[in-house]
Order: sequence, then C-alpha cells, then structure tokens
Amino acid sequence: MRQSVLFPKTLREAPKDAVSSNHRLLVRGGFVDQLMSGSWSILPLGQRVVTKINNIIRQEINAVGGQELALPLLHPKEIWNETGRWETAREVMYQLKDTREKEYALSFTHEEIVMDLLRKKIFSYKDLPVYVYQFSTKFRNELRATGGILRGREFLMKDLYSAHASEADLTDYYQKVKESYLKIFKRLGLKVKVTEASGGVFTEKRTHEFQVINSAGEDTIYFCNRESCEFGQNKEVFDYKVGEPCPICKEGIITEDHSIEVGNIFPLGIKKYAEKMGFSFTDKDGSKKPVWFGSYGIGPTRVMGTIVEEYHDDKGIIWPESVAPYQIHIVDLENSQLTTHNSQLTGEAIYNKLSEAGVEVLWDDRSDVSAGQKFADADLVGVPYRLVVSEKSLEKGGLEIKKRSEEGTQIINLDQLLQLSLGKPQNS
Ligand code: ATP
Ligand code: MG
Repeated sequence: MRQSVLFPKTLREAPKDAVSSNHRLLVRGGFVDQLMSGSWSILPLGQRVVTKINNIIRQEINAVGGQELALPLLHPKEIWNETGRWETAREVMYQLKDTREKEYALSFTHEEIVMDLLRKKIFSYKDLPVYVYQFSTKFRNELRATGGILRGREFLMKDLYSAHASEADLTDYYQKVKESYLKIFKRLGLKVKVTEASGGVFTEKRTHEFQVINSAGEDTIYFCNRESCEFGQNKEVFDYKVGEPCPICKEGIITEDHSIEVGNIFPLGIKKYAEKMGFSFTDKDGSKKPVWFGSYGIGPTRVMGTIVEEYHDDKGIIWPESVAPYQIHIVDLENSQLTTHNSQLTGEAIYNKLSEAGVEVLWDDRSDVSAGQKFADADLVGVPYRLVVSEKSLEKGGLEIKKRSEEGTQIINLDQLLQLSLGKPQNS
C-alpha cells in the first residue's frame, strides 16, 4: 500500500474526550473513527487488523468443527418472548417498532435465533452435535460506552453455538472450546486469565470469562498469585477475601486486579432455551429429549482495543506480528531522487519485490512530508518492521531495518530482507 493514497491521514492530536490509550492511538493512527458514543467506523488500517484477528479465530474455531454462517440482525419480538428475554434483557436490547406497529429487536446476541434455526432442521440424535458460528454485529444499549472501542453500543462478535444430545457431550465440547480460546488468545498476543463468572441474562449456570489484566479494564477479577494455578473468579461470584490463601493450590495468595473481558463461554444447558422453545430430538431409544446447548463469544473489535492497551508506548502502537496491518513499513527518504544509487534499492523497487513475494508492505512514498513526520507516523501506526531507505543507509551498503518493539537498528541487504519477511506467517 502506498501511504500517499492511504485513507485517512494520521492526526497529530488525539480527540479531546479520548481518555484511554486505544481511543487516542487508534484514532490518531487512522484505524477507527467515532460516529457517536459507542459507535465506531473501522477504517482501512483497522479493518486489516480486525481481519487478521478474525482469521486467527476462524482457523481455531474451524479446528474444533465450527461451521461458519450468517444470521439476521433484525429479529421478531415473538422469538424473544419464547424464552422471556424480551422482558428480562430489555435493558440491553434495542427494541423498535415499524410503521405497522410490529415490534423487533436488534441482535444483542443470537441464542434464540440459532435455536429457532436448529429446531427446524434437527430431529434425531443422528443430526447432533452441531457447531455453528458467525462474525456479526451486536447492538447493546451500553449506558457507559467509554474506553474507546473496548465498549461499543454496536460491535463485532464471533459467536459460536453448539447443540448436543447429552450433557456429557456438551461438557466435553465446552472443554475443547475453552482450550481453543486459550490458543486463540495466545496467537493474538494476549495473556489471559480464565475466571468463573455468573451467567447474567444467559444462564443460571457458572460461565467462564477470558480476562486480560490491564488497568484500562472495567472488570475486577480475583486470582491466585501463582502463575501456574488456575484459580480465578470475577466480582459477581467471588466469595473469599483478598490476601487469603488460594482455595485451589493452598500455596498462593488471592490477588485482585483490573481486567478486560475478551471472551466468555456459556454452558447453557436445557432449561433456558431447549425446554422453553420446545426444541427436542428423538434419541436412540426412541424417546424425545431436549437438546443441550452452549454458546461462546469473543469480541474482535474489543480485542483490537485490548491489544493496543497491552502493546503501545508514548509514540504509538506496537502491533504483534500476528495481527499487524502490514509487516513492513518502508520509510522512504529517497523517493524524490530515484536511482541515484544501485537501482535495485529504490523504495519502489523494494516495495514491488516484497509485494510480489506476498509480504504486506506499507510504503511511505509521500514526497510532501518531512523525514521527521514519516518517522513519527511509523511509530504511531506501529508496523512491526520499519525499513529506512535513505542515502545514508544506501551508502552503508543496504537498508536500515528496525523492529518497532526494539531500540537497535541493523543494516541488511535485499536478499536478507526477503528471507526475513518470507519466514513470517501470513494470516490473511
Ligand atoms: P461486559 O461485561 O464487558 O459488558 P458481556 O459479559 O456483557 O461484556 P458477552 O455477552 O459475554 O459480554 O459477550 C461476549 C464478548 O463480546 C465479550 O467477552 C467481549 O469480548 C465482547 N463484548 C461484549 N460487549 C461488548 C461491547 N459493548 N463492545 C465491544 N465488545 C463487547
Ligand atoms: Mg461476558
């Protein structure tokens, strides 16, 4: 991508109301733009990051048998009445009427909608289990939509739903998804704590949240200070005292911290959905039984914000390679005086070579911007490798490469560069 045509330009100043780092840096870098409180446009750079995040999630959910589909966002009231959530979830749900006074809800989640779909298609134990998922917009009437893109009133969610013939099968799959989530967050560069939580308007059962310890988080979690210990609970279910010995390992101590919830999985069971919505199947012995149900969410846009909260300095973002919008940022200080040196080493030639080799490159080819501004923009946008093409580096016989996450620079030649970038995993 030529930076001269990249939309939009970076901003020197953050918006006045931006308090969190993800808000300041994502807006300044041109990744997102705010329409109103809790409502965000994802711009081309941001969209590349979200696509990377989605592709990692997609690969791992496919690996546990997930089949991707797309469900409607506008739902009839009747379906939400079947489980009673038209009333019980009224506070978060956007409810509206059309000109004929017919009532609808905008999707805040999709359990009822999936349940309705499955009950039309599934009749026998032979049709189970089923795992379906989507990436889709959720609308929620969030009263405090602050913290940049961490809390939107309209946001992206990957939601997976599983239907099973028995509780044992659900439990088994729930465990698989939990492990899959740990892989996903690791690939996304996020260190997570798994915490027990209540089911809110989803289920009476305990659920599991995936929490990233970070001061920008709105949640408070309690966990064992021994890294290897699994004890973790969120505020709603916590029933001990901070400083007490850990109830699981007995060796560590219970600690408290702020965190961002990036994922949540729900072993929903049969009571709230299958029984209320009359979704049953015929088992091997010919008897009718309710279908066991689970749901599993991750918010890719919140994940993008969380990654920025975790990976930044005072100059800008420092993207992990797995989600970076581009792998290499060519800071071209020579582009107005092409081919004065070895013609192979113009910014354009390098850009073309790398692009042909399948490397994702952002090339700062702007001729009306100072070197200082180019360096500042490279730090702000946070591409993992910065490659300077300048008279100085060319005189030294090559190209100056610097990792955004490290201080030192190195001079390398084009072959070394191609090897370096070709070894990188490409997710998209
Ligand atoms: P919170 O407690 O932060 O309001 P939640 O528990 O209501 O979130 P879930 O219903 O568990 O959210 O949604 C699954 C995932 O969707 C969350 O783990 C999070 O990653 C994402 N998510 C939820 N609400 C939002 C939001 N308002 N903006 C962006 N992402 C969200
Ligand atoms: Mg949750």
